[in-house]
Amino acid sequence: MVPTLELSTATAEETRALGLAIAALLVPGDVVSLTGDLGAGKTTLVQGAARGLGVEAPVLSPTFTLVRQYPGRGTVYHLDVYRLDRLQDVLDLGFEEMLDAGGIVFIEWGDAIEALLPESYLTVELSLANGEDATRLIALTGHGRAWEARWAMLEERVSVWKT
Ligand code: ADP
Ligand code: MG
Repeated sequence: MVPTLELSTATAEETRALGLAIAALLVPGDVVSLTGDLGAGKTTLVQGAARGLGVEAPVLSPTFTLVRQYPGRGTVYHLDVYRLDRLQDVLDLGFEEMLDAGGIVFIEWGDAIEALLPESYLTVELSLANGEDATRLIALTGHGRAWEARWAMLEERVSVWKT
């Protein structure tokens, strides 16, 4: 069984708070893959998670730089692979070295590079509830044993956002 949680947030700050709650469970080598259309809130969630990981610098979208790196509780990497059309381009960014070095890696549009992801990773799927509203629907899915083991704790931490 693949563990899943269906959540929703009403504001950008709530999405940051959710990111912060998720961050409490992250350990070196973890990968979080974020999906959702432009403006869905992927970067916003990473901002909260980075705060939870002790990153003090402002977290900006890596859309043009492809990867940004922040010192925190370990090294936090933030990738946007939207513009990369080959898996090799992601490897060229040093993706495997980031994991080997015990970084915590957030990947916007991570579904495009599923083949490169480790056995265990967390998927965060964001979508707009409707065109007008600030509400975001956010589904978390745990892949692999590491997330199965942490799921009950994660569920407890994010329970206020359950739909
Ligand atoms: P993405 O990285 O998915 O393209 P961003 O996080 O850069 O998206 O942008 C999301 C935008 O939507 C921001 O301007 C943010 O303030 C706004 N927003 C409004 N409501 C929410 C919400 N509930 N969660 C996240 N962002 C929200
Ligand atoms: Mg973004």
